[in-house]
Amino acid sequence: MRSSIINAMVKSYHDFIIGGEKDQSFDLSFARMELSLAHELEKDYYTESSARYAEILRENYNSRNFCHNQLSEYRNLIARINSSVKNNLSLKLDPGKAFINEQNAKLNKVHDIERLYNSRHNHLLLPRYEKSKIVTCINEILDYRSSVSKKGSSFADHRCNQIWGKNSTSIKQDLLSYYDSLLNKMVSLQRYIPEEIVTMLQSPALQKHAKKNIFSNIYLYSYSLGELLEVVRDICESYFGLSISIKTHVDYYELHLSIDGKLFTLIVKRIESSSTYTSLSSDEIFPKSKAITYLSSVFFDNRVSIINAKTFFHEIGHLLNIGLVTYYGKHYHSLFLNKYEICSQLFEQIGVRYLIESLKGSPVDRDLANYLMCYDITDEMKQVEFSLIDIIIHSKNFTLDESVCFPYESYTSFSNMFTRVIFFQHLFGGELEAMYSIYPLNSRLAYKTIDEGNYAKIFEKYFCGIGLSA
Ligand SMILES: [Zn+2]
Repeated sequence: MRSSIINAMVKSYHDFIIGGEKDQSFDLSFARMELSLAHELEKDYYTESSARYAEILRENYNSRNFCHNQLSEYRNLIARINSSVKNNLSLKLDPGKAFINEQNAKLNKVHDIERLYNSRHNHLLLPRYEKSKIVTCINEILDYRSSVSKKGSSFADHRCNQIWGKNSTSIKQDLLSYYDSLLNKMVSLQRYIPEEIVTMLQSPALQKHAKKNIFSNIYLYSYSLGELLEVVRDICESYFGLSISIKTHVDYYELHLSIDGKLFTLIVKRIESSSTYTSLSSDEIFPKSKAITYLSSVFFDNRVSIINAKTFFHEIGHLLNIGLVTYYGKHYHSLFLNKYEICSQLFEQIGVRYLIESLKGSPVDRDLANYLMCYDITDEMKQVEFSLIDIIIHSKNFTLDESVCFPYESYTSFSNMFTRVIFFQHLFGGELEAMYSIYPLNSRLAYKTIDEGNYAKIFEKYFCGIGLSA
């Protein structure tokens, strides 16, 4: 029974992502399956960890059920807001995409890019009616959340406790000190990277422009998928003592892993989409494998930059993790509940360091490493900001009113809740719901672990899940 529910979950997840048709109520039906899984877990074997997992699944379901209705109303709102913002801007300020492209091409027109950004992100331009609806939407969800939370604790505390076994104040403290260390890294990079670029990276309006500039430096090096798979093979062998042979097919690769004389297979497959992801496979989907990485066709058709290579290594980290854990007969979802992103971050870092190492001696290796680091730091800071916002908004007594844009002063500023509408969806719906803190906290752990350099331990503990408890 349990495995049939898990198979159904896996299949539905695949259908949702691979299938062309996007089901708006996917979250809800998926959560319903999670709920039945929770019942089964409690019935089958009542251990402390299965009970805790079941409790989390039930919480997810209730919360999603409520948010689902709010969110579908909100989706309509997004469409209306987008068109009204566009109309508003095109009348006075926004000369369209051609103008933006033109400005992006010119470094000396930085002022105009900033101006354009500010007008696009100005919540005062929003129609009053829409704005007040968003505020109502958010506050209703927050009200619901406070009714869910356990006695005397906020939803943020409740979640942080479930996931990290800590209260939100100490998680927030962890995040803030991590943020400080990222800031310091960024400042020290100013010695190696043109000051102009660092300044632009710090401005929300110009960051995209600066990244484009960084990209042009990074793109000096490119890799084919075959080369990247060879790197994976080499890393697995030399760091983890894991031997892999690779079999090439037209639109997929089979990775045959050998452990204790036994073989199992992982799949890397092409998908006609710009997204790239990894998931557990059910036998119906790919009989031989336990896990599949779906790679955007870009990887199959072109040589890619080190930024894409990083994404590739990230997914391979998930692939190995899911594959190895299920190979050892463990339940990946409950075992890795708060650690989904550890192996991906670990492999990502090991892979990128490997590529940079292989450029040693070439005149641009240092530049490439610096630019890449710069790019990484900005991304990471954004994640930390998301987490902080997540925690703040779910804390006790937080109420949004129309005069507040956003309460947290931001470095890579995502400060406007009204015009960065995507934000709202990520805070309250979907799988990452109130769990932004997973990303930065996982990557922090990943960096620390790599710097300690004990790869055998990393492999056993994180990739195989040996010694981990749910
Ligand atoms: Zn990931």
